[in-house]
Amino acid sequence: MLKFIEVALPVPLRQLFTYEYSLPQPVDEGMRVLVPFGRRQLVGIVVRLSSSPPKGVKCKAALNVLDSKPVLDAPLLQLLRWASQYYQHPIGDVIQTALPKRLRQNKSLTAPQQTIYHAAKDSGAEVLSRAPQQQKLLALIDAAGVEGLSDEVLKSQSEQASIKNVRGLIKSLLEKRLVTQTVVELPLTILESSISSNKSLHKLGPIVLNKEQRTALQNIQDNGDEFHCTLLNGVTGSGKTEVYFSLIDRILEREQQVLVLFPEIALTTQLQQRFIQRFGAHNVVSLHSGLADKARNLAWLAAATGEVPIVLGTRLAVFTALQNVGLIVVDEEHDSSFKQQEGFRYQARSVAVKRASDLNIPIVLGSATPSLESLHNVAQGRYTQVHLRQRAATDKLPEVSFIDLNHYPADEGLSQPVLQALGDNLKRGEQSMVFINRRGFAPVLFCSHCQWVAPCLRCDAPLTQHKHGQRLNCHFCGAVTQTPKQCGQCGEEGLLPLGEGTQRIEQQLERTFPEAKITRFDRDVMASQQALEQGLQAVHDQEIDILVGTQLLTKGHDFDHVSLVAVVNADSGLHSHDYRSTELLAAQLIQVAGRAGRSKAGQVLIQSRHVQHPTLQAVAQHDYQGFAQAALKEREHASFPPYVHLALWRAHSPHPSKALTLLQRTAQMGRRLQPPSALLFDACKSPMEKLAGKYRAQLLISCTDRAALNRWVAQWVAQLEQNPISRSAKWSVDIDPIDLY
Ligand code: ADP
Ligand code: ZN
Ligand code: ZN
Repeated sequence: MLKFIEVALPVPLRQLFTYEYSLPQPVDEGMRVLVPFGRRQLVGIVVRLSSSPPKGVKCKAALNVLDSKPVLDAPLLQLLRWASQYYQHPIGDVIQTALPKRLRQNKSLTAPQQTIYHAAKDSGAEVLSRAPQQQKLLALIDAAGVEGLSDEVLKSQSEQASIKNVRGLIKSLLEKRLVTQTVVELPLTILESSISSNKSLHKLGPIVLNKEQRTALQNIQDNGDEFHCTLLNGVTGSGKTEVYFSLIDRILEREQQVLVLFPEIALTTQLQQRFIQRFGAHNVVSLHSGLADKARNLAWLAAATGEVPIVLGTRLAVFTALQNVGLIVVDEEHDSSFKQQEGFRYQARSVAVKRASDLNIPIVLGSATPSLESLHNVAQGRYTQVHLRQRAATDKLPEVSFIDLNHYPADEGLSQPVLQALGDNLKRGEQSMVFINRRGFAPVLFCSHCQWVAPCLRCDAPLTQHKHGQRLNCHFCGAVTQTPKQCGQCGEEGLLPLGEGTQRIEQQLERTFPEAKITRFDRDVMASQQALEQGLQAVHDQEIDILVGTQLLTKGHDFDHVSLVAVVNADSGLHSHDYRSTELLAAQLIQVAGRAGRSKAGQVLIQSRHVQHPTLQAVAQHDYQGFAQAALKEREHASFPPYVHLALWRAHSPHPSKALTLLQRTAQMGRRLQPPSALLFDACKSPMEKLAGKYRAQLLISCTDRAALNRWVAQWVAQLEQNPISRSAKWSVDIDPIDLY
């Protein structure tokens, strides 16, 4: 009987493609097939089987089936289809994103193999009297005894013994049956040991949980083994990770798998090491953006086959194939990096909750500063909240105080009280951290005569001055230009660098404390994962007195010896137009402050011109909960998420008006389809209209009913795509956007 398959292909079209299937091999959903597409052959995934073709369409035949069992099992395929539909992104591209490289090609994933050579029992040396090279090699293999020699070791040993043409020699020995070979599969985690630096990671026994942790653990477990979302709201350093560990112990006992998601950047190595120390390298595999293709392929295989029970990963890992997963953990659930901001724009935290719900397993979201969305879900009774209010290793949270910049003027960014505190800390031999959210020397180059600032010609943004080299950089498009000698408007000379970046702060600290060891942590210095790891190790080994850095320093690192944190300026987040700016600021300050005093009493000093601002006051009281309640009220009042659901259309074009025109037409189309519970705003230029030479526009829509919004956008996208105007500018639609520019 003729069969048909519906295939997802890596093409930017929102549809499946039907092929006739008449090959002798069995085919099933989730398997890869090779199919003709135009003049090309593409690898696609079978998403559906059907017995009849779409009406009036002549289908081509599939050329080959590449798997004997599905690479994506039914629930995962279902999740990917849901994500494609929910985030309005073509299914082929969604699946493409989820698969490791080899599976996107006409290749398979196999465990790495190794050949082991053994000398045969009575390898008569006399037979070889006329072949001294073979004899030498045989002696090497013989010396290895029952263990045998792997091809790798054989190669290096024969090099040392200056034996040439090992391949040829081995071939002769095999033919003469003087040597035997066996091929063995290597364990997939062997890679892990090479990633996690060369330090020997001795296994640590479990820490005894304190009373609060035990209660939290109990409460989470009381929610049962079925789907339930628990928000583990624990202050920085309260020992959330130890609670995850205890939950994972149970998963291992039951021989299940666990998926642990954590934010991008920085955190990888430290977290990975903690897991390896606790559970052993053979039990842990990690999938993050820093992995090379080969490593990612293997890690994916280790997870997909169920060979390794603990799968750590950044946002993309939410789509990893797993066997018998029993728990999902999202650590630092508030972190923006769970949201993919380009292409397939998905929110990995939301996908994780959906996946847990589909699989009917528990999920734990952990944070010291939970997202307002998650807190709202708690208030609505959808999630359960569990608290850890005390730090685990000390008895106190750091003391937070403000330095009012109206009273204590800053010199090159730093006020007298901050310099004083840094000096005192230095005398005590303790580490300090200075946090500033900008890289470079100064964010603006400024003319004091006419207020002109040097602009990027491709963006609506000023250029940042960097030290060394007479250049200005654009932090938005990456452009580099010569530093002008004169004002571009009035022609006066003597332009001034205005404001502070990490370099300027570092310079000021070096001047003030010439004896201190100061290291800068920003993307310019810590460009590679390796550089960052070395830097963090130096902090850990107490080779650094003062760390100056950006967000790179805030994400979950344990700096045990940092007892003072200074925040250069808290004010930029107070005056931003982004509706999430105060949430981001509060979370960031609390996370930064959380780096202080993890093992001894800590102090946090925040410089600001608005010390009475309620957000800052909440931070000082360590009252994130209070802040969040107030913020949620404001959001409700203003009809913003989580009280409504948003989608944002964006468009851009090198032509000054095409993006806006497209979205104005798009808005007209949408108005005709608009459900009653929805709002359609006017299409407008983006707040930063020009970016990297493109003019940008946007169109915001909101709806109290998520499903209605989803149906609306789906119809709307389909209509827009039919209309030739949709090709007049590049456009996208972002579901649940986290910024509105
Ligand atoms: P969080 O993830 O909440 O920031 P961590 O799990 O990193 O906290 O714990 C912070 C520090 O406290 C770590 O150094 C950890 O080893 C330590 N710690 C956690 N739980 C305990 C405990 N029950 N007893 C002693 N120390 C603990
Ligand atoms: Zn001027
Ligand atoms: Zn630019």
